[in-house]
Amino acid sequence: MLYRSLNGHHKKVNFETAVKNGLAEDGGLFFPEKISPINNEFIKNLDKYSNIDIAHEVIKQFIGDSINEKDLKEILSNTVDFDFPLIDLGNNIYSLELFHGPTLAFKDVGARFMANCLGYFNKNKNITNTVLVATSGDTGAAVANGFFKVKGTNVIILYPENKVSEIQERQLTTNGNNITALRVKGSFDDCQDMVKTAFIDPEYEDKIRLTSANSINIARWLSQMFYYFITYKKLAAQSKPIVFSVPSGNFGNLCAGLVAKLMGLPINHFIASTNVNDTVPRFLETGTYDPLKSVPTISNAMDVGAPSNFIRIEELHDYKLDRLRGNLSGFSYTDAEATAAMGHLLKKLNYIAEPHGAIGYLALKNYLKTKPDAQGIFLETAHP
Ligand SMILES: *Cc1c(COP(=O)(O)O)cnc(C)c1O
Repeated sequence: MLYRSLNGHHKKVNFETAVKNGLAEDGGLFFPEKISPINNEFIKNLDKYSNIDIAHEVIKQFIGDSINEKDLKEILSNTVDFDFPLIDLGNNIYSLELFHGPTLAFKDVGARFMANCLGYFNKNKNITNTVLVATSGDTGAAVANGFFKVKGTNVIILYPENKVSEIQERQLTTNGNNITALRVKGSFDDCQDMVKTAFIDPEYEDKIRLTSANSINIARWLSQMFYYFITYKKLAAQSKPIVFSVPSGNFGNLCAGLVAKLMGLPINHFIASTNVNDTVPRFLETGTYDPLKSVPTISNAMDVGAPSNFIRIEELHDYKLDRLRGNLSGFSYTDAEATAAMGHLLKKLNYIAEPHGAIGYLALKNYLKTKPDAQGIFLETAHP
């Protein structure tokens, strides 16, 4: 399996190089040269396989010969060693809880997978990869935890001042060892711009082996497919159309779900659920892509004005709006609406949600109004 740049540069690289470099030489995002469907019998019999075997079957085509089967399974056993409970809230609505990992948000799977891959690549080498990452809180925490003391890695985290919670700031800043956190006077988008600038800065070339641990890194992006396959295993006995509502910021998680669908997982439709940073829902409605500066909200992990994975979603649909609309709807909600939804979930359904998941819930309810026969799953991406 080789990866090409979405900016069009001709050079193709393998999984190891794509993970280590983060971005292509021309600054473009890496994209798999080919995505093949996985065996239909395997999907039909998912409930007979362990989470590790499922993860292996799903990811192996993307790894190629960069990691052998035995070591890949070992890496995966360190990646998916906690549960992803699916909570039935009645009326065909489920909450998929992705916050049972060590840092309490859904990014642990991607961060651990990437950290374990880099540790494996550097096992017998005397080199250091510097992992540079921008965070609105959860990514940095997952990366700090996943990379802590991983051989051959040095982690630099940029986070926006006053825009992460106190617990998150402690998760980012209290590790020491190979983890350094830097507080930036600015927004998450500013942090992300600094990362992008560093990658194309000739001064760093050859001096530092820089890589990113945002969902632009293929190891983080693609491993998020596991959630969708593992969840389908739990639903497999049921034949109703399946809809996933994905609270989105940089759109890595949602984009991974779309790849899962392309590989043959029978998902009927996806919903891009956002706060008022609604670049994608607006695009789906108007057909004009008009990224704006991000606005702070209470669902701050989704405060992204220019979602970096959206180009991958466009690529998956050949840049055709009607094809995209066939797979994806989008809805956005204010802080007041998210807060009211949390109250409703608690009082009516006895379920404690937090703002990101509450937005997923609202968008799902909205979509299901016209699709009463579907079963809907919203992702609860952080611990309340
Ligand atoms: C990162 C994050 C999101 C957004 O995920 P993307 O893959 O960037 O779209 C949503 N909710 C929480 C809690 C997050 O940490």
